[in-house]
Amino acid sequence: MESKQNTISLIEDDYGLSRINECIQCGTCSGSCPLAHEMDHGPREVFSLIRDGFLEKALISNTIWFCVSCYACSSRCPREIPVTDLIYSLRQMAVKQGLVSKKIKMPHLFKAFDRQVRSGKRISEARIAFFYGLRHPGDVIPAIPLSLKLLKRKRVEL
Ligand code: SF4
Ligand code: SF4
Repeated sequence: MESKQNTISLIEDDYGLSRINECIQCGTCSGSCPLAHEMDHGPREVFSLIRDGFLEKALISNTIWFCVSCYACSSRCPREIPVTDLIYSLRQMAVKQGLVSKKIKMPHLFKAFDRQVRSGKRISEARIAFFYGLRHPGDVIPAIPLSLKLLKRKRVEL
């Protein structure tokens, strides 16, 4: 586990994580989060870990990848802490530090999406699914029946 000094120097980096120091640990964010039951730690606990010097534990948790950006936490936080945005910062930090668990697939989905955005072309769900499927072919086959239904109803385009 890293030292507390290392944690503080990272927080002072350009990630805006110093806002975490304003957290009063009320738990409103975790109580509002629709995915909290799937997360290793709710957002409140993630912030507590970071403040206590366990940044690495926070970065390897699934919490930062399971966030679906609903902003319920940010809009309800009594200290107006931008919880969702801080979770994005933690994602960036985890990727830069090579601390993404191999079990976490979301970065590959984000990369497939990012690739589409950077291409400057119209975003295609099918292409995103294709590039994601190259990394996780086992996820593609079970999704075929639903994909065919979506195609039939013109909810996705090739
Ligand atoms: S709602 Fe805000 S103040 Fe309360 S625990 Fe979450 S981040 Fe901290
Ligand atoms: S933005 Fe993310 S962390 Fe916040 S409540 Fe929604 S899913 Fe949970």
